[in-house]
Amino acid sequence: MKSSAERAKWSDRFPWGAGPSLVRASAAMWSSAMMYAELDPVWAQAVDQSWESFRAGSIGIGAVVTDGSGTVVAVGRNRAGEDSGPAGRLYGTRMAHAEVDVLSAVAAPRREGLTVWSTLQPCAFCAAAMVLMKVSHVRFAARDPLWDGVERLPELNPFVASRWPGRTGPESGEVAVFGGLLPLAWCCASSAPTHPSGASTPSRTRHCWRTRLRCWTTVT
Ligand SMILES: [Zn+2]
Repeated sequence: MKSSAERAKWSDRFPWGAGPSLVRASAAMWSSAMMYAELDPVWAQAVDQSWESFRAGSIGIGAVVTDGSGTVVAVGRNRAGEDSGPAGRLYGTRMAHAEVDVLSAVAAPRREGLTVWSTLQPCAFCAAAMVLMKVSHVRFAARDPLWDGVERLPELNPFVASRWPGRTGPESGEVAVFGGLLPLAWCCASSAPTHPSGASTPSRTRHCWRTRLRCWTTVT
């Protein structure tokens, strides 16, 4: 049962009702189909962050940074849909991506051997942040078709190529499904055709969720 505060938040953000129904559907999947206890502990933290992001009205993407020994040194999430956040973190802007959020929490001095774990394939913006932060490796749970081809960025020049992190992903199984589902649910809720205002959905938003929907249906 959602709290009245949570219900009010979704009602305000998605007054046509798509948000709460998608939250219920996702919650049902979370509780009944996902074998949470069997997840790698790092993936479990990333998934927790993605769920927290979704519940807060953001896109539903979580990220974790581990050091060279595999110890978790920071957790973060997408905060694009929120009007507040921790000090030093971006929020309420389309730049408030999960990977940038978690990297901004990695304390100086720079650590070597960092791995970023993200529930969704990092975009070019986040990939560039990883280059600047000398991230050694990135693991992502679900493919994001909006950023197909980002792996060709090392072709830009020798500097980018020298710092380009190793990549593992997408994963398979529940973590991949859940990692792709939450952004898709957010896209669908944001472009629901039954908006009471009657305003047409921007074509770029329709393209966003249709592209992600095609991708998601191929992995389920
Ligand atoms: Zn990004």
